[in-house]
Amino acid sequence: MEWEPVIGLEVHSQLLTRSKMFCACPTDQEQQAPPNTRVCPVCLGMPGTLPVINRRAVELTMMTGLALNCSINEHTYFDRKNYPYPDLMKGYQISQFPNPIAIKGWMDVEVDGQTRRLGITRVHLEEDTAKMMHIHEPSGESYSLVDVNRSGTPLMEIVGDPDMHSPEEARQYLMKLHSILRFLGVSTADMEKGSFRCDANVSLRPRGSTVLPPGKVEVKNMNSFRSVARAIQHEIERQGRVLDEGGRVAQETRGWLEDKGVTVSQRSKEHAHDYRYFPEPDLPPLVVSRQQVADMRSRLPELPDAMRERLVAQYGLPAYDARLLTASRATAQFFEQCVASSGTKGEAQKSRAKAASNWMLGEQARLMGLAQKELEDYPEPLRKAWMTGINQLADLVESGTLSSTQAKAVFEDTFATGREPKAIVQEKGLAQVSDSDAIGVFVEQAIAANSSAVADFKSGKDNAVKFLVGQVMKLSKGKANPGLVNALLKGKLDALKNG
Ligand SMILES: [Zn+2]
Repeated sequence: MEWEPVIGLEVHSQLLTRSKMFCACPTDQEQQAPPNTRVCPVCLGMPGTLPVINRRAVELTMMTGLALNCSINEHTYFDRKNYPYPDLMKGYQISQFPNPIAIKGWMDVEVDGQTRRLGITRVHLEEDTAKMMHIHEPSGESYSLVDVNRSGTPLMEIVGDPDMHSPEEARQYLMKLHSILRFLGVSTADMEKGSFRCDANVSLRPRGSTVLPPGKVEVKNMNSFRSVARAIQHEIERQGRVLDEGGRVAQETRGWLEDKGVTVSQRSKEHAHDYRYFPEPDLPPLVVSRQQVADMRSRLPELPDAMRERLVAQYGLPAYDARLLTASRATAQFFEQCVASSGTKGEAQKSRAKAASNWMLGEQARLMGLAQKELEDYPEPLRKAWMTGINQLADLVESGTLSSTQAKAVFEDTFATGREPKAIVQEKGLAQVSDSDAIGVFVEQAIAANSSAVADFKSGKDNAVKFLVGQVMKLSKGKANPGLVNALLKGKLDALKNG
C-alpha cells in the first residue's frame, strides 16, 4: 500500500507587547529578568483578581489575521481551558475556543517551483503559561521550579488546515509564516527563545483517499525549521512501517529528540484531557467594528509577497533573488538601503542592485551562516559598514581594480572588522594590474618560458592559451586583470602563429 502524509501545523507565537495579556506586568521576552520578578496577583492567579484585555494584543492578532487573508469575527469572546498542571497558575488558561478572532484564511507558498495555496483554519489569542524547570541534582534528588515571569504573556495561536503532504511543504509554510510575522512586527518570532513554537499533526492515508485519516499524531519539541521537517519525515516513515505491518497508529502526542533524530511517545490521546471549555465569565465579549477592521487593513505594512514583486519590478531582480531577499524584513531593508546609498539611478541602479543582491546572498550569507547568525544579530554600525563595503567593492570590481576573487577576500575583512574596502586594498597593495605595459612584460616572459605550449597553440591546440593565461597570472601574483591578460596573450600568439 502506498501512503500519503497529511500534515497540519499549529504555531504559537508570543506577541510583541509591552505588558502582559491580562495585567500590567511587563513582558520578559528577552528572558533576562530574575525568575518571578515580573509578576502580580493577576498573573499569579490569586483569587479575587480580575483580568483586563490587552488592546494591543488584540490589534496584533487582527493584523496577523488580515495578513493571512482571514475574516475577522465581529463578535468574539474568551474561554476558560481547564486543566491541572503546575505551569498554570489559575488551574485554567484563558484562551479562545469556538469563536476565535480570525478564521478561514490562506497563504501562498512556493514548493519546488510551484505555488500552493495553503489554508489557515484560525488565529486566536490566549495567555502563555509559566515556565517549568526540571532539576536533577547529582545527589539523585529531583525537583521542579516554576518561573511565573512568562505566565500571562500574550500568545497567538495560528492553526493551519491539514492540507500539506510533504515535510518540505511544511517547512516552506513555516518559513513563510515566520517571515510574515516579522514583517508585521507582531512578534520577535525567535524560535530558540520560544517566542515561535511549532507543533505538527501528522497522519497517513492510502494514496488517492480524500478523507482525513484517523489516528492523528501530534509532534512537539522542534526548535528550528530544519528539525520540523526532520521530525515530520521521521514520523511519516515510522507510521508507514506500523501500517505496512498491518498495525494501527495510536493517536498520541510525541516529542522530537533532536540529537537522536526520533520521536518518542509522551502522552496517549486515549487519556486526553477534557478541557471543559466555557466562556470566561470575568471578561466581556470582544466586539470589533467593521470600521476598525478596515482601518487596520489600510495600515498593514508591505508584506513579503508584495515586496518581492516590487523588488522585481523596481530593480529588475530575478524572482529567485527577490524571494530570498524578502525572507526577513531586516534583509529586505538592508538591500534597499544598500542600493539607495550607492546614489545610482536608472540602469546603473539596476546593475548595482544585482551586484548588491549577489554580495548579500553570496559572501554575506555564507559568512553569517558560518557564524550561525542572522542579520539582526549584528550591531547597526557594522551593518552600515557592510553596505558601504558592498558598494565600494562593486565599484572596484566594475572598474577592474579588483578581481572577483580579490574582492571576496576583502569583503571577508570588511565583514569581520567593518573597515572600508578602499582602505584594505591600499594597505595590502591589492589593486589589480590593468596597465597593459606591465602585463605585456609578463606575457613576454610566459611565452619565452613555455615554448612547448606555444608550439601546441601553433598546431591548433587552443587549450594552450588557458595554460599560458595561468602562467601570466602566476607571474603577476594574481594581480593582473584576467580580461586584459587574455586579450594581450591572444594578440601576441596570433602574431607568432601568422608570422
Ligand atoms: Zn501580572
